[in-house]
Amino acid sequence: MNTIRLRPVRKEIHLSPSLAFCHVSPRHGRHVSNRKTPDALAVEASTYVPSPHPRPHTHNPCEGLTASGRNDTHDTRNHAVRDRVTRSGGADDCCPRRRSRPVTGSVPPVYGGEVLHVHLDTGETETEPIAPADARRFLGGNGFVAKAVADHVPPDAGPFDPENVVAFGVGPLNATPFQSTSRGVLGFVSPMTNGFFDSTFGGTFPRAQKTTGFESVVLHGRAPDPSYVVVTEEGARLEPAEDLAGLDTYETCSAVREREGVGHDTHVIAAGPAGENQVRYACLLHESKIREGVAGRGGAGAVFGSKNVKAVAVREGSFEPELARNDDLRELATSRMAPLMQETTMLQNYGTAGLVNPINEMGKLGQRNNQTEQTDPETAEKVSGETLREEYVTEDTTCANCAVRCGKHVTVQSEGVTDGKIPEFESLFGTSTMQDVYDLPRVVKVNDLCDRLGMDTISFGVTVAFARECFEKGLLTEDDSSHLAFGDADGLVELTKQTAHREGFGDRLADGSFTLAEDLGGDAEKYLHGSKGLEFAAHSPRGLKGMSIGYATSTRGGSHHDTRPTLQYGSEEPYTPENSPEFAARSQHFTALGDSLTQCRFVSEGGWGKNINDRYRDAINHATGWSLSTEEVETIGERVYNLERLINVRRGVANRETDTLPYRVMHEPIPDGPSAGMYCPPEELAGMLDDYYAVRGWDDDGVPTPETLDRLDLAEFA
Ligand code: SF4
Repeated sequence: MNTIRLRPVRKEIHLSPSLAFCHVSPRHGRHVSNRKTPDALAVEASTYVPSPHPRPHTHNPCEGLTASGRNDTHDTRNHAVRDRVTRSGGADDCCPRRRSRPVTGSVPPVYGGEVLHVHLDTGETETEPIAPADARRFLGGNGFVAKAVADHVPPDAGPFDPENVVAFGVGPLNATPFQSTSRGVLGFVSPMTNGFFDSTFGGTFPRAQKTTGFESVVLHGRAPDPSYVVVTEEGARLEPAEDLAGLDTYETCSAVREREGVGHDTHVIAAGPAGENQVRYACLLHESKIREGVAGRGGAGAVFGSKNVKAVAVREGSFEPELARNDDLRELATSRMAPLMQETTMLQNYGTAGLVNPINEMGKLGQRNNQTEQTDPETAEKVSGETLREEYVTEDTTCANCAVRCGKHVTVQSEGVTDGKIPEFESLFGTSTMQDVYDLPRVVKVNDLCDRLGMDTISFGVTVAFARECFEKGLLTEDDSSHLAFGDADGLVELTKQTAHREGFGDRLADGSFTLAEDLGGDAEKYLHGSKGLEFAAHSPRGLKGMSIGYATSTRGGSHHDTRPTLQYGSEEPYTPENSPEFAARSQHFTALGDSLTQCRFVSEGGWGKNINDRYRDAINHATGWSLSTEEVETIGERVYNLERLINVRRGVANRETDTLPYRVMHEPIPDGPSAGMYCPPEELAGMLDDYYAVRGWDDDGVPTPETLDRLDLAEFA
């Protein structure tokens, strides 16, 4: 058999640890890095390193192979190619399955050009060329995985049915030297919302996926036995994983790397025990050499569990995206470095945990299941980013090719946590302020357990907070659980373990707060804090009008990455019921576009702009060679968001009735603090919905009209 070995391409990862100041942590006696010097920032601005030798984009590695006496050319331009892949070996086809990515006259060569379909039931794979029109319609990442779910998941298929898919997407700028395009996107039908969900994560996996040339990898069906999936530029194979059962996420990543025998060249994302037990908000964790990435929300880990998949590993390939206008993109990216570094100082120093104090000061940080939204400054300080930095941070960590380095590792010796992932702001909301638990070592322990066992810290935390209020109100008793008092830090640790293993009361927590409210009946639903089945993130739906309408209409329910809170916190202009519907729609376009481009949100908001603007237009055009207008770029975001809405409409989970907010948000004003009196009464929400539907071109029930679908070139999905 003839083989052609393609030159492995390794891009530099700009870690630049020498750019950091250091101090010695009083708690653990180790050096920890701190903020950067101005000189260092200038050096960072030059980290955009364009490839001097772009790969020719018409190369088909299989072309011209004649020694076998066969015409071995794989033509993927006009039809999908199906390969038989052995359960533990490579393709049994004529040659290694290096797809003929970038095909002249096809998608721009910044794209890998194909989607890889992996049929878990049979071990077969298929490749599907990406139509040039689809690249322009959906751009990548979020857009591509939404299309995969729309194309392949029947509207009546449940989240745990084999017909559900998990689609891994990357964007046109992944694996280019462009800053911070190291995010990947997972698309699937969520066990929390029964609707479309996209969950993003960082680290090194997405960049590695891009180098395989597969813009999307779509897992179909259910493996007959516990398995993990290995993706290479040749295709995919399944490997047995019976012996990985019960391992935590870090152990699984390590075991798969070791088994594949290539160290960190294989990039792994894994489910923990919570995913195996189909805890509905089970997440996936990707442990890389330089930063963890967590696809946290929506239950991707549970869908993995339903598919008998413990992990996916991707091995770096040789595809190197070719930028259409390298110098122009370089100039643009370099011009944004200084503002980026200036605007992300808090993230560089404290990660997102740096938001605890300022948002508490605004009176918009939920306490005790959101009964109040402010605690005293001394109490908030106990779980702040500043305290974490001072006491427990051991090092800064980063996704591939990012100068911000918002990730941190923490060590809390008393809890047995060594170089664990720092709790994010949202996680501190879920597992600290909502619980009335301010014992930081225990909070770090809970977060480390969630990461290792594979559970979303937001949904888990808010579900426990909901149960704790139900206990406070007498709907649950000591007979149900002895860990349900607000403030019980040890009980929270126990509930974390019980939930991941579905033991005791944890089995009821494992299905989320909405299912628990239904079980309890009575007034329980009055204490819910979420929408469409998904618990809210930390950004107040009472204190931020844009979040009121944003959460209510979100395709993902209680996600803060549909409508963004950032502008609302920072603006001197009030966000009112009159201007919030249009703001929410534009913000949803911004997030859908950003997740299709797969640029990290923190970097977009920090250095590029919090709404779609000419910079995003220019970045896309320089990368692809297109000549889109800013309006056309905005339309891509609008199209992707409407496609998500359509999927949910078809599934019966998106309409005027489901575009709503929980009882407390609509009936109980914030009781005290700077935001006292704020809430979103039903008539105010109804008015905002009318305006929002009008802005969107949807009918009175929130369904995109035929005219809107025609305008957005989405009619085929109706
Ligand atoms: S800002 Fe943080 S999350 Fe974003 S790419 Fe950089 S390290 Fe990753």
